Amino acid sequence: MQTNILSICYLIGSVSFIIGLKMLSNPATARRGNFISAAGMGIAILGTLLLYQPSGTEFHNYGWIVGAMVIGTIIGSISARKVKMTAMPELVSIFNGMGGLCAALISIVEFGRIGTNHEDMHVLSILAGMIIGSVSFAGSMIAYGKLSGKIKDHAFPGQHIFNLVVLLVVLLMSAFIIFGDSTSFALIFYGILGLSLCYGILFVLPIGGADMPVVISLLNSFTGIATACAGFLYNNPVMLTGGILVGSAGAILTILMCKAMNRSLQNVLIGSFGGAKASAGPATGEEGTYKEISLSDAAMVMGYAHKVIIVPGYGLAVAQAQHACHELEKSLRKNGVEVKYAIHPVAGRMPGHMNVLLAEADVSYDDLLELEPANEEFGSTDVVLILGANDVVNPAAENDPSSPIYGMPVLQVWKAKSVIINKRSMRPGYAGIENGLFFLPNSSMLFGDAKDVLQQLINQIKEI
Ligand code: NDP
Repeated sequence: MQTNILSICYLIGSVSFIIGLKMLSNPATARRGNFISAAGMGIAILGTLLLYQPSGTEFHNYGWIVGAMVIGTIIGSISARKVKMTAMPELVSIFNGMGGLCAALISIVEFGRIGTNHEDMHVLSILAGMIIGSVSFAGSMIAYGKLSGKIKDHAFPGQHIFNLVVLLVVLLMSAFIIFGDSTSFALIFYGILGLSLCYGILFVLPIGGADMPVVISLLNSFTGIATACAGFLYNNPVMLTGGILVGSAGAILTILMCKAMNRSLQNVLIGSFGGAKASAGPATGEEGTYKEISLSDAAMVMGYAHKVIIVPGYGLAVAQAQHACHELEKSLRKNGVEVKYAIHPVAGRMPGHMNVLLAEADVSYDDLLELEPANEEFGSTDVVLILGANDVVNPAAENDPSSPIYGMPVLQVWKAKSVIINKRSMRPGYAGIENGLFFLPNSSMLFGDAKDVLQQLINQIKEI
């Protein structure tokens, strides 16, 4: 009876993951989806604590389990509440690393328990969980260090070959354990653990700091696979389903991010875009001259327009200007202006960055345009106001085959009658390249911190 109820708890857990994941794909339902998945996980954990009966023994260690859960919950909720939107990729990286570490620890514990008559599949699951989990843990920690600026990009000549050799040695040692007939493999096992941790570090170290969100998404997928291995090990359906879902969702997200930046995964992993070369400093030589617009003129142009599209970018997140942006939208609407937002899939520093930021400021989802519909609307738009976006509006992606971002889908803001670009200077964005948009006849620069500029614009528009 107990086992049947436990199976139902696991079924509820698995189904709620699937429903929650589906709901996460829409900003309007994402919050509820997250809650449903968390509640399903809660039921699965509670079911395990109360109903799981390991063969012949009593379930024990309640003190340790509950203690760890309380500490983890406190640390997790405080850090998730306190984190700034721009530091979100760092937090995701740490959380992901912890998942990988858990999967690796499960494998280490289970390795200590295998007897002489072990099944090959059982050992394979232990090794796969340990290797993938520790690569994910070590890699995520390096990714965290890079995103927070604590660790610089490091590469030595022939590093990719060296990494491949390390990986090959790990695989050969694993094969030795699985197919060998010795009874004591502890030394080799811990050797594999050490090499896997080294591989995780070496694999992420040379990748450009700015490419870390893609790498984190890939490592997230690794953590999912490592968890699925643990689920297989314990014959636990909820761990298996959760692991497979995280593994595949992470892999799909990685592919989508690469597509939205028009880059292959190989190029992200061994290329240098966004790395030391690209972020080495401002691009040299400005293309022609740009013109500036004053705050009062910008307010007039927008206040008397029929339609304004706002394009938020990474700079909006840095300035924490989402609330001011929503205020500007409301002031413009009061003047009878139609206002929409154009959201590029990789605007900011992680997918959905802009959607979450604007949702936090109560901007209506109905006013957000995705790339394609936005590109169809720019032609009929009077003013495009760009707030701290740069690469995602760079025409070089369409007309300069030599540009590193050539082929990346971009917002075709230049089709609008007038484009106002707010940023603090003429410095380049993430890709470290010049932006020809700033020099077009219908473009004008409005320099300053996004939040300050928006607040002043709101005041001026109120006086119109
Ligand atoms: P960019 O990084 O291209 O540009 C941001 C601009 O914001 C900068 O040019 C900067 O100029 C300006 N800025 C910074 N601080 C402020 C401020 N306080 N006020 C006003 N402006 C400010 O951002 P985009 O959003 O256009 O593009 C995102 C880039 O990130 C793309 O290249 C994308 O491929 C990449 N990327 C995105 C990922 C994702 O999943 N979203 C993942 C990995 C990479 P200045 O210093 O002059 O102010």
